[in-house]
Amino acid sequence: MVARAHEKISNARQDFLHKLSRKLVNKSQVIVCENLNIKGMVRNHKLAKAINDCGWGMFLNFLEYKCQKEGKVFFQIDRFFPSSKTCNNCLNVVDSLPLDIRTWDCPSCNTKGIDRDINAAKNCRDEGIRILFSSGTGETAKGRNVRQRRGRKSTVVAVADEFGSQHSTR
Ligand SMILES: [Zn+2]
Repeated sequence: MVARAHEKISNARQDFLHKLSRKLVNKSQVIVCENLNIKGMVRNHKLAKAINDCGWGMFLNFLEYKCQKEGKVFFQIDRFFPSSKTCNNCLNVVDSLPLDIRTWDCPSCNTKGIDRDINAAKNCRDEGIRILFSSGTGETAKGRNVRQRRGRKSTVVAVADEFGSQHSTR
């Protein structure tokens, strides 16, 4: 009985993650994720349950294969990139930001009360744009083909346009 309940929960979770990843891939040309040290975090008991419960690794897999299937770009940024500890407004980096502090208050530019996850997500987006434009993929702005993983070629002009305009209208 318990096993069946677990199976039911796990199916519902998979279904949810499939739908969510589908939605994100449909509306994006590029998806940038943080490369979280999941194994390391799971060893931390406080975080273990939360991470295992939400199936983060599974979610990333879903995103990645859906992007690959459709010639979209998926990549993860370095796990040492200080996404949470950097101010998205002034780029000030703080030494530490304990997990129980949920808002970003910048001691440097006085930005206050920003949700820490939103601040981190914006930093990931900006870092993703930086990487796209500074690596080979940056050539997309000129409409050249870029080689993705698996050696498939695809043109991602729309990505540069979309990101460029999003970036400049921020
Ligand atoms: Zn700041």
